[in-house]
Amino acid sequence: MRQGSRPRAEIAGGGIGGLTAAAALAQRGWQVRVHERAPDLRAFGAGIYIWGNGLRVLQAVGAYDEAVVGAHEGEWFETRDHLNRTMERIPINASGGARLITILRETLIRSLTHACERAGVEIVTNSPVSCASADGVLTLEDGTRLDADLVVASDGIGSRIRDSLDLLAYRETLRYGAVRMLIGRDDADVPAGDRSKYIEYFSGTRRILYTPASASDLYIALCCTDDDHAARQVPVDAALWKASFPHLSSLIDRFADAGRWDSFEVVRLRRWAQGRVAVIGDAAHAMPPYLGQGGGCALMNALSLAVFADAHRDDLAGALAQWELAERPMTEHTQQAAAQLGHMNDWPDELRSEVMMLTGKSAYLAGQRMKTALHVPTGT
Ligand SMILES: Cc1cc2nc3c(=O)[nH]c(=O)nc-3n(C[C@H](O)[C@H](O)[C@H](O)COP(=O)(O)OP(=O)(O)OC[C@H]3O[C@@H](n4cnc5c(N)ncnc54)[C@H](O)[C@@H]3O)c2cc1C
Repeated sequence: MRQGSRPRAEIAGGGIGGLTAAAALAQRGWQVRVHERAPDLRAFGAGIYIWGNGLRVLQAVGAYDEAVVGAHEGEWFETRDHLNRTMERIPINASGGARLITILRETLIRSLTHACERAGVEIVTNSPVSCASADGVLTLEDGTRLDADLVVASDGIGSRIRDSLDLLAYRETLRYGAVRMLIGRDDADVPAGDRSKYIEYFSGTRRILYTPASASDLYIALCCTDDDHAARQVPVDAALWKASFPHLSSLIDRFADAGRWDSFEVVRLRRWAQGRVAVIGDAAHAMPPYLGQGGGCALMNALSLAVFADAHRDDLAGALAQWELAERPMTEHTQQAAAQLGHMNDWPDELRSEVMMLTGKSAYLAGQRMKTALHVPTGT
């Protein structure tokens, strides 16, 4: 860094991770530019669960107040079996308990974008990046080379920056994925007592996640195996999903032609950083969404990166090594726990019902699961 000058960060990707890192660095006095390849900042994926850890990051970067406007705060998270029997019933948002809100992804991105703008971040759209070097040079697709004290690779699961530095240890497409959609809420969808709950319905290898995401929006995720071609198709095959979930027929009838399929993936890196380049979010640690923590981890690691980098401006490479040491174990714990929850997809219905009803009765196990969801070490 030049003596007396403000440090500069070039950030690749304007998703949850990139915008959070950008806001947090700019708030600490850095000159920050975000490069987003799309023509505007928007997120696909309909709704999103943000647990207490992510909410604290939104507060820290000044995006919280806008993000929670109109958000849904349910009181119960339930899992139901193929006969619509409750297997687990976990209290949410009770005094002293787990905090969770569900919102539209576009609301989250907008609130982070506004936090960036208030902090003076320069956001450049239609600006695809192509590679970076460990000495802090970010190269755009048009060949422009940009010098920085810190380059942040937050360009998502297929990160070109990460791959240009050969940091990938492992990337696997899992056997499962989901069709996600947003539809309007309707009183006839589920019984009155269920309407404001978060409910995950299981049947065979298929799941339906029912998530109110605002007063008027319902976020639906239809999860199934990659090779369940009839179930993953869009427009959704309503007759097929109703056969698996007859108790949700009126809801399924309203899916129309909405939705997009995404396979679940896992990413692990050899290192999260090289020289002056740090990799964050899905580019570093994509995970299956069974805990709703991929975005939460991206938020936490982005804020933490800014804190470490700013505290050690004169030794960025050392700062990034310390940041990885501090954050990686907890993120990988969450990643593994999420992968383990996915194994239940393959269990026969009756076995899954018995096991989950048993674990659902254990306050200890429910507490451990919540600690994982909240990104708290389960040993505490
Ligand atoms: C089905 C499903 C459900 C999920 N549910 C939840 C949930 O409820 N809660 C939760 O916390 N997480 C959830 N996640 C995970 C969460 O969506 C991701 O972890 C999160 O979006 C990662 O953010 P990111 O910023 O790292 O990447 P992204 O959101 O992918 O953002 C990357 C950005 O980089 C841009 N980009 C890509 N390549 C380039 C390039 N070459 N140049 C410039 N820009 C580029 C992209 O356009 C994009 O804007 C879910 C994931 C899935 C698949």
